[in-house]
Amino acid sequence: MINLKRNSKLELVEAKGIRSRSSSIYSPNQLEDFKISRGKFNDFLTCQRCFYLDRVKGFQSPGMPGWSLNETTDILLKKEFDICRAEQTPHRIFIENGLNHLVPFKHPEMDNWRNSLSKGLMSRFKETNIILSGGIDDIWQDTKTKDLIVVDYKSQASNYEVRTNYYLESPYHQGYKIQMDFYNYLLTVMGFQVGSLSYFLVVNADRGAEGFHGKLDFSETLVPYSHNITWITSKVDEMIELINQKTVPESNPSCENCAYSRHRAKVD
Ligand code: SF4
Repeated sequence: MINLKRNSKLELVEAKGIRSRSSSIYSPNQLEDFKISRGKFNDFLTCQRCFYLDRVKGFQSPGMPGWSLNETTDILLKKEFDICRAEQTPHRIFIENGLNHLVPFKHPEMDNWRNSLSKGLMSRFKETNIILSGGIDDIWQDTKTKDLIVVDYKSQASNYEVRTNYYLESPYHQGYKIQMDFYNYLLTVMGFQVGSLSYFLVVNADRGAEGFHGKLDFSETLVPYSHNITWITSKVDEMIELINQKTVPESNPSCENCAYSRHRAKVD
């Protein structure tokens, strides 16, 4: 994909490929606090080299266009759940799924927790200088047990009905589960009581409709997921060890971007 760098006035500017804010670059063994988001943690799990080049060397990956249709479903779902949050009533999806005992969780920090860009759930990792963060889509609450339930909205378009087993086993959805494990880990270390199940609220646009007619029809499916936070601590330990080293790690041999850039470098 070709992506051209533009400034805030949308004028084309020189792409430097390096971060300008020193606060977003980590110096090995630095003592100042440094924030690492759920997305960057996922980068570490996917390719240690790319994660290191980004966080320690300050390399800036090419930008991506926004996912405006997916964002729109998120925004509209948020509006619906916020009405039920204010009234502390079950949302229609809870009722349809026999979950009348759930309500959207009401908390003064909710808007900050949903702000993945500047805030999110946040917690210092052990006694280190690393602050872990992650912006959630929503949290619900079981009114019987008071357990919190992490929810992630997912938008897709598929001819196939959403089925829990297939959805959770798909190689393309493994990152979703990591995301959910991470959010549950953060809430737990922040001192909240979380239940054993999280939910993906999957909205699936009907690609088999007869025509567009100015709208997309979505089905809505709740996919329950038994999250697991036990593996997170050791992986964060590994991540911190990595950013404190001076050598650049190996790349992921399955990465198409790196394969392309290796060939591209030979042309110059
Ligand atoms: S293999 Fe290369 S391009 Fe791909 S994620 Fe790793 S460093 Fe980045």
